[in-house]
Amino acid sequence: MSIHDWFKRKKLQRETEYTRERLDIPGNLWVKCYKCGQPIYAKDLSANLKICPKCNYHFKLTSAERLVQLFPNNSFKEINASLTSKNFLNFTDTKNYTQRIEDSILKSGLKDAITTGLGKLDEFDVALGIMDFSFMGGSMGSVVGEKFARLVEAAVEKKIPVIVFSTSGGARMQESIMSLMQMAKTSAALGRLRENRLPYISVMTDPTTGGVSASFAMLGDINLAEPGALIGFAGPRVIEQTIRQKLPPGFQRSEFLEEHGMVDMVCDRKILRETLIKMVRFFKD
Ligand SMILES: [Zn+2]
Repeated sequence: MSIHDWFKRKKLQRETEYTRERLDIPGNLWVKCYKCGQPIYAKDLSANLKICPKCNYHFKLTSAERLVQLFPNNSFKEINASLTSKNFLNFTDTKNYTQRIEDSILKSGLKDAITTGLGKLDEFDVALGIMDFSFMGGSMGSVVGEKFARLVEAAVEKKIPVIVFSTSGGARMQESIMSLMQMAKTSAALGRLRENRLPYISVMTDPTTGGVSASFAMLGDINLAEPGALIGFAGPRVIEQTIRQKLPPGFQRSEFLEEHGMVDMVCDRKILRETLIKMVRFFKD
């Protein structure tokens, strides 16, 4: 089998993975749960914050869906919305990176993998960032890092807390060192937030991996995680090969990390908003 065939096969597999949740019924009225395999009426799933009513599996949310859940009062105002990535290295893999960015913008309707802005969570002003996996796997390039840093700067200026929802496959390899630098930049920005004694709450959602988990996602004053989320730096296979040991069951899932002190609280999506409000209130008092 040539390398080319192998890539083709990979692509095919990926497509079936993504379409698996659609059942063979016209109109996309029913969705199949990834975990329990039960069919769910699509409207019921949306009404239930995209949590499976049968097994509590948390489906991935787009940033737009999460915004609606967090700000029913419609108070969220986006900042730095127009930033887009540059092809610094004139990088080309199977596609030129410039083309890849343009395609992702068209496909996702987003400019990059994070949306940032200011809003009112209940009565509290907060600076909020939401990553979106549908934009190049939520990868962190120069734009994600820059928007994160500017969000923190806005929070320092307004003296308000920062809340960031992460979901990411890691650093964006097409930007090489420019994307790795964002790990230091976002961490430094959070250092400034700490100097100003303002809280940062990190919410890790499925999946939060690579450079994002190794920088701002794990640096929260409080680290929350949605149930069942994959959270880690390297993938389990790489770790197993390195340490030559079998990993325990549930390794790199929210509940395992909570048990081992890496995550402060696994929080069901149904109580996530009120939990965040409670925490922001606590830090304000
Ligand atoms: Zn289910």
